[in-house]
Amino acid sequence: MTNFEVRAYDAAGRLGELDVPRAGVTVETPTILPVVNPHVQTVDPSALESEFGAEILITNSYILHGSEDLREPALERGLHDLLDFDGAIMTDSGSFQLAEYGEISVTTEEILQFQHDIGSDIGTPVDIPTPPDVDRSQAEDELATTQERLEIAAGVDTGEMLVTAPVQGSTYPDLREQAGAHAKATGLDVFPLGAVVPLMNEYRYADLANVVSACKRGLGEAGPVHLFGAGHPMMFAMAAALGCDLFDSAAYALYARDDRYLTVRGTELLDDLDYFPCECPVCTDHTPSELRTMGEDAREDLLARHNLYVTYGEIRRVRQAIRGGNLLELVEVRARGHPAMTDGYRALLDHAEQLERTDRVSKDAFFHTSAESARRPEILRHQSRLDRFEITGDTVLLTEGGSNDRYDETWGVRPPFGPYPRELGDTYPLTAEVPDRLHRDAYEAAADGVARLVDCHPDVAFTLVHDDWPASALDRVPETVDLRDLHARE
Ligand SMILES: [Zn+2]
Repeated sequence: MTNFEVRAYDAAGRLGELDVPRAGVTVETPTILPVVNPHVQTVDPSALESEFGAEILITNSYILHGSEDLREPALERGLHDLLDFDGAIMTDSGSFQLAEYGEISVTTEEILQFQHDIGSDIGTPVDIPTPPDVDRSQAEDELATTQERLEIAAGVDTGEMLVTAPVQGSTYPDLREQAGAHAKATGLDVFPLGAVVPLMNEYRYADLANVVSACKRGLGEAGPVHLFGAGHPMMFAMAAALGCDLFDSAAYALYARDDRYLTVRGTELLDDLDYFPCECPVCTDHTPSELRTMGEDAREDLLARHNLYVTYGEIRRVRQAIRGGNLLELVEVRARGHPAMTDGYRALLDHAEQLERTDRVSKDAFFHTSAESARRPEILRHQSRLDRFEITGDTVLLTEGGSNDRYDETWGVRPPFGPYPRELGDTYPLTAEVPDRLHRDAYEAAADGVARLVDCHPDVAFTLVHDDWPASALDRVPETVDLRDLHARE
């Protein structure tokens, strides 16, 4: 049985639909689950639904379980009535409190039963969130405990409630991968990647990319994948491209409380703004100085609303990018917002081979906009398929110019892709829009493609006619290849 269907891929990014049977709703992904504190509601859940289109939210069952005021009403009326929200409600188990305070007073069976009894649509067992960088033995021991809890959770009768299988393993890629494979094997429904908040708080986006890709190797295409605690819109595109489907955020409210203003490029302080760089109703109707003179509650409410507009706006942008096949172009733009995001994008490209497996074969366009573009999965795929082409002649010209009858065959060459049979010149991805002034990485990638082709055909004599390639690229071309410059006189 699967509750998750993928409608479209781009890199490892997925446009999907999560069927939540207990709520009777289908949630479109990627999406964000606003975190609703049962005690303090910055923006009412009904407003999240009507104004921002929220189809799903997350609240903490452990807080409700321990609350003298709310425990009984939650049990009597159910969460949907208590929060006044008709969409899907996911509940967390208290694992976060466990990580913060060292112990909690419920077992997985108890808290899952409680989540079921209060009408949660997606429940969570009590896993152990192991922080980054701990000793390996601690990561292994805690992962073993988490895995026992997941097996217990898989055996609890929770009716139509979906149950999550969190993936832990700290910053050890092999443990994360193994944890992903184990979580998938439990047959549970949703896969949160746990204990990544410290990485995001410290802007360690390269480490985050490595952790997510390790989890995904283990999980395969089981889904949906929830990046637990990821609430900053600046990283949605990157996380989606790595294969994350769900995000959750208390950031919209927590940041608003501290006069912090979210943008897709990072965070601004209200005090530093003379103008609002945003088109949402809050920013269109007010100026920063107006907000600064307001009372605390009114200001917090407006900032939280702006933060939500930006958050949902970026979710829609990510969805459209997956639909349009230009998610990596969006990741590239976001990567320029902060140097740590650039690191994240570069780390993502280290996993281009993994992303290539689900990337679609053809898209409308490929925009080569940076040095990093030369490492995209599309280029890797093009080069890995060069061995599919037969070469019958003894001499082959690889050229950026026109063909020449003196050779048995003429192939085209185009940075960053490298060599290609001429009949493929008008097909994706060779139809890429490439700038005239290329970074040397693009030439080097093309040279690697030449080397690969030469490798596949050791008995063929190759000549490469290149258009002023830099030495760093020509050095990568095998010595057996006869090199000519396109504009040199013969
Ligand atoms: Zn705004």
